[in-house]
Amino acid sequence: MTNVKYIYSEDLLRYRFSDSHPFNQMRLKLTTDLLMDLGVLTTQHILKPRVATDEELMLVHEPNYIEAIKKAGQGTLPESEYEKYGLASEDTPQFVNMHENSALVVGGTLTAVDAVMSGEVTCACHLGGGLHHGFKGKASGFCIYNDSAVAIQYIQSKYKQRVLYIDTDAHHGDGVQWSFYTNEDVMNYSIHETGRYLFPGTGALTERGDGKGFGTTVNVPLDAYTEDESYLDVFQETVEAVCESYKPDVILSVNGVDIHYLDPLTHLSCTLDTLYKIPYIVKDLADKYCDGKVIMIGGGGYNIWRVVPRAWSHVWFALNDLQTPHSPIPKSWIEKYQSQAPVPLPETWTDELDDYMEIPRQKEISEKNNNTKHRILEWFK
Ligand SMILES: [Zn+2]
Repeated sequence: MTNVKYIYSEDLLRYRFSDSHPFNQMRLKLTTDLLMDLGVLTTQHILKPRVATDEELMLVHEPNYIEAIKKAGQGTLPESEYEKYGLASEDTPQFVNMHENSALVVGGTLTAVDAVMSGEVTCACHLGGGLHHGFKGKASGFCIYNDSAVAIQYIQSKYKQRVLYIDTDAHHGDGVQWSFYTNEDVMNYSIHETGRYLFPGTGALTERGDGKGFGTTVNVPLDAYTEDESYLDVFQETVEAVCESYKPDVILSVNGVDIHYLDPLTHLSCTLDTLYKIPYIVKDLADKYCDGKVIMIGGGGYNIWRVVPRAWSHVWFALNDLQTPHSPIPKSWIEKYQSQAPVPLPETWTDELDDYMEIPRQKEISEKNNNTKHRILEWFK
């Protein structure tokens, strides 16, 4: 028996817009195989994702949107309606069977939720999830259905538990924020690159929830080019304050790994060191406040060869109280995938840093982030 589950099936790779689209779920297979080659993940740990029902999707999404996605996936939605549902953009174009393949992503996250909330296991991960930009009636930012938002509502409706949502993806988790902006029963924490130059543009410090939900949204916008030390300092102190004040029953975390300096879509300057530490920080909070109950899901991450597999492995390591291996990356893994990779696959667990750009404004950036941290800590005094 294992106390941690890993939700995976190759069917998740069918969530795919096109061959040239930056959202490439090949990274799930790369991560899963790396963990298996290391011998830390076995078939005993794996649970297959189920498909979310329409009723479950409707916990967050509008029925006409779900119908439109079904039709779009069969090629029967009139093109005149694409714009209305967010399908006219290059970010979220129509693809074959998009409803079934998106509902599987949501179902995977619900599979992880049920495994934890039923008491079967203490924690679980579903790296195929984390589609945090999906809106209730519109696709956005590579996301069709918002598995995170559905999972939060599902935990509330079915298990009546208080959820702390922690989103460390480089982009603001806007879809989740707007789903629960007036809801006092969800604490929504997102740390991200400021929206000044980055999609989706929201996630300012001043967005704190509305009505009864005021104070249950916490946004931590960081300056572009933020480095490890500043990131970890701000993250650790603010997330701990939020957790201490809210006292959640369970944590759901989105582990986007696009804060890395080699990520092609963002401008933060963190290294693998920070990405390795984040899941342990979240796991420690779950141990301290929630009897260990945590569900970790994926998110963004667009350097799928040199960043994502090593970073996401640490989600699994953290959940299992394992450390970064002393041994190099298994040769079997490199040999399996080198011919498909356009870059040399990494041989060790550390960044080479030969292409790391020194940031001249580092002091200024850290000071600004520090001010943001202190403003947030003030709210919880
Ligand atoms: Zn992202």
